[in-house]
Amino acid sequence: MTDIVSANQSSMTPEQAAHARRGIERRMRRAAALAAAQEEQRRTDELFMRKALDQARRAAALGEVPIGCVIVKDGRIIARACNRRNTDHSALSHAEISAIRKACRRLADWRLTGCTLYVTLEPCPMCAGACVQSRIDRVVIGAASPKSGCGGSLLNLLQNPDFNHRCEVTEGILQEECSSILSSFFQALRNDHSV
Ligand SMILES: [Zn+2]
Repeated sequence: MTDIVSANQSSMTPEQAAHARRGIERRMRRAAALAAAQEEQRRTDELFMRKALDQARRAAALGEVPIGCVIVKDGRIIARACNRRNTDHSALSHAEISAIRKACRRLADWRLTGCTLYVTLEPCPMCAGACVQSRIDRVVIGAASPKSGCGGSLLNLLQNPDFNHRCEVTEGILQEECSSILSSFFQALRNDHSV
């Protein structure tokens, strides 16, 4: 960029060249600050996704498909939950639904405004719907779910422009860990059944 200024300098007064250079420096500082903020956000997202992975491990210990979720408000975890479909004998016991229920109870409010939900697997239609209904600000997803994902894979219920609320979505945080915990679980299940 300095070269552009130098190339144009012949037609500029020294004051104009200095002004142009200051403008470029200002834009570069802004871009660096934005990159630093994005890097900080990614680190924070990874930290909370690790907590969601801890929940997924709890599900695996129960013999459940390992999916975990945490909900964060003002930098603190306000709810943690894991998939407990078999344990609870309930199709509603997905990690996100249980975490949303706990967070609502904790805040004594059905609105989870200002909250971010971290989940190791892309939400299904029910859970994506619950995220929209509870007005969650942001949903951070680990692995994509090609067979039931409604955060963009099959449908994008989290960001339908016709709904009265849309969630900001970040995908692919610790994607490999979130995906491998699932594939290891299913592999172990297949091995058990083949004995
Ligand atoms: Zn679900």
